[in-house]
Amino acid sequence: MFSKILIANRGEIAVRVIRACKEMGIRTVAVYSEADRSSLHVRLADEAICIGGPKPEQSYLNIPAIISAAEITDVEGIHPGYGFLSQNAHFAEICESCNITFIGPPPQAMQLMGDKLAAKDLMRKAGIPIIPGSMAAVRNKEDALKTARRIQYPVIVKAAAGGGGRGMRVCHNDVRLISALMTCQAEAEASFGNRDVFVEKYLPEPRHIEFQILADRFGHTIHLGERDCTIQRRHQKLVEESPSPAVDAKLRRKMGELSVRAAKAAGYVSAGTVEFLLSRDGTFYFIEMNTRIQVEHPVTEMVTGLDLVKEQIRIAAGESLGYKQDDIALEGWAIECRVNAEDPSNGFSPCPGRITEYQPPGGRGIRVDTHVFAGYDVPPFYDSLLAKVISVGTSREDAIRIMQRALDEFLIEPIRTTIPLHRQIFSDPTFWRGQLATNYLDRQLQLGEAE
Ligand code: ADP
Repeated sequence: MFSKILIANRGEIAVRVIRACKEMGIRTVAVYSEADRSSLHVRLADEAICIGGPKPEQSYLNIPAIISAAEITDVEGIHPGYGFLSQNAHFAEICESCNITFIGPPPQAMQLMGDKLAAKDLMRKAGIPIIPGSMAAVRNKEDALKTARRIQYPVIVKAAAGGGGRGMRVCHNDVRLISALMTCQAEAEASFGNRDVFVEKYLPEPRHIEFQILADRFGHTIHLGERDCTIQRRHQKLVEESPSPAVDAKLRRKMGELSVRAAKAAGYVSAGTVEFLLSRDGTFYFIEMNTRIQVEHPVTEMVTGLDLVKEQIRIAAGESLGYKQDDIALEGWAIECRVNAEDPSNGFSPCPGRITEYQPPGGRGIRVDTHVFAGYDVPPFYDSLLAKVISVGTSREDAIRIMQRALDEFLIEPIRTTIPLHRQIFSDPTFWRGQLATNYLDRQLQLGEAE
């Protein structure tokens, strides 16, 4: 086992990883930007090193600075968290070449799954259903129009290297498709340094269902059931739950087996997520694989009793899983709300600034993963996630009721957050019935979606 690791991240996930390390008797090194000097992850770690300016490229994306920090502090491993360098195969390779274990999948698997087109191709060959569309990057508008004619509108243009809902446009006709092609290519180039985009069929009102998998270095690969992440805004998740109200034991077995097959086909090791879209008629399709710990991992932890960050660390240290698929049982129901520093009543505009009053919820069935405290300044440079509220109950209704009272207790002042929107969702009868699709927020709350 490692004796010391560095966490190449910030915010709630850095705190989350430090906590797991402490429980495992592993010493921790935090890295931080000049904007994060008084952050919680800096305070909780055994050592902390400033790695650069506030902008991500000066610090949390600054590979030489992070590697230097790792060498100075003599760590054996680096946990990348999510976002930043977590899916950067080049960074993982550099870590390995410096004799530092990257706590994540092998670089080859990251590279393969980081390209949505390559991933789709691999999955098709492995017999996993994929959404009809282009099988290679779109070269020009004729190419895009030809694909749209074959698969019929509506279609979605997507960046091959995409993530976080960026570089994606839904199109209902030729004119929109041609303009979307150009905007997506430009957005993909700016966000991911890769212009490749492709076209696929846009499914009407699907649910987003993803499977958590764990794979060790000895060929043991298992799944930990599904998360339903259907409630999204602009293709970004806002509420997640496990299990899904739309998945029964039979479908779970089928999708779970295919997820394990997908991970094996990619040569995957570590914790990962296989994402699918599920249609109303019960058909489902692979969309992508995320090669990192995900924001919404706690809902799986609450229903399986496992600690996914510890599992990642154990796997990276060369331990075998030590349990089989049959040993995994889902118990109860867990739901997570993402509390972001955004104003839902004003187009979700970011709301950085000082938090003067902070009172988190507690009590039976509540877990809050956060880096926030009274007096914390929310910097304007990073993503807006402030806290994740996770409720766990004996049933979905129990988990909803616990979440409702937790949202009522939660006080963060004076900045605006997504808490009022969550309150609205949790008191909506459609949400209670679990009759959801990815256009739910659009439809139910008339929030309007940018296409
Ligand atoms: P990202 O990598 O940016 O998160 P994904 O491929 O995971 O992008 O898709 C994010 C979300 O976009 C999905 O959960 C779904 O709501 C929507 N989406 C993506 N592809 C399709 C599609 N072909 N049809 C309908 N919705 C889609």
